[in-house]
Amino acid sequence: MTTMPEAAAPGAAAPRNDDVLLEVKDLQMHFPVSSGFLFQRTTAYVKAVDGVSFQVKRGETLGLVGESGCGKTTTGRCILQLYKPTGGQVIFDGQELTGMGTKAMRGMRREMQVIFQDPYSSLNPRMTAGNIIGEPLIVHGLVNGKIEYREKVADLLQNVGLNPYMADRFPHEFSGGQRQRIGVARALSVSPKFIVADEPVSALDVSIQAQIINLLEDLQAQFNLTYLFIAHDLSVVRHISDRVGVMYLGHMVEMAERNEIYRNPVHPYTKALLSAVPIPDPVLDAQRERVLLTGEVPSPLNPPSGCVFHPRCPVANDSCSRLVPELREVEPDHHAACLLATGYGTP
Ligand code: SF4
Repeated sequence: MTTMPEAAAPGAAAPRNDDVLLEVKDLQMHFPVSSGFLFQRTTAYVKAVDGVSFQVKRGETLGLVGESGCGKTTTGRCILQLYKPTGGQVIFDGQELTGMGTKAMRGMRREMQVIFQDPYSSLNPRMTAGNIIGEPLIVHGLVNGKIEYREKVADLLQNVGLNPYMADRFPHEFSGGQRQRIGVARALSVSPKFIVADEPVSALDVSIQAQIINLLEDLQAQFNLTYLFIAHDLSVVRHISDRVGVMYLGHMVEMAERNEIYRNPVHPYTKALLSAVPIPDPVLDAQRERVLLTGEVPSPLNPPSGCVFHPRCPVANDSCSRLVPELREVEPDHHAACLLATGYGTP
């Protein structure tokens, strides 16, 4: 595992690598669980994210995948400081965000936006599309007067493929795909550098998913955006991601360049996820090896010892329940947290 440089103080300028927009170091989000009727006390912690580190370069799309409950959405929320991480660092554009004061954080929020999963519940049903998109312009003081406001809203609607005359309609008058376009326009309104797209197409029909992904790609090129694209399905992130990170039970278990991870997955969990992705060619589909996982994802309240994947891993050995695998380089720019794949902990 790469050695991390000295921690930067909250809000202080960290040592800069201009290629890197976002750096997450040893991120932890442990939610306390309380019990007791009169005197509530913390009796346990849900380890939703437990020591995750990665970087996102400017203009890059990092896909983050894993089953429900693996910690990918919590990771996105910690980056945006919607949750205050219980450990680790989030360094955005050279600024350490964890521990940053509310006022300083308000300025940073303009740079980092989010697109939510559910376009049906994430839009206020009582606001028009124009007001949903334009509200951040007012909150951040980015417009002078009504004419400029209307022009900017019209531009944003056009940027996401909607007609400006739709500004006076309410969310229920749009289709699911159109609503997600409104969510994208709202995120774009403050000219962010970075967008967390949290399962942005999961609630949409398959035929609409490709349109939204293509839109996000076009906007990335047009506005030089950097994305963290969260999805539970490896087939969804394949098209849009430059690199892909796979999470399991609060840990990053594999990370590599997009084609490398699909061609040469080394972690047994990634292999299992990939073997469930349908291939259009029936001959190839029949030939490939299926990796079936047994059992449910364990509770993050009481994660397994050693490698957290060992109770479900088809190739686990005695070392796996004792030793915690670190994310190590298995090929250039290809990292995996598996004792066998990295040559550690063989019996
Ligand atoms: Fe499987 Fe062991 Fe590798 Fe974990 S460390 S993924 S249990 S082989």
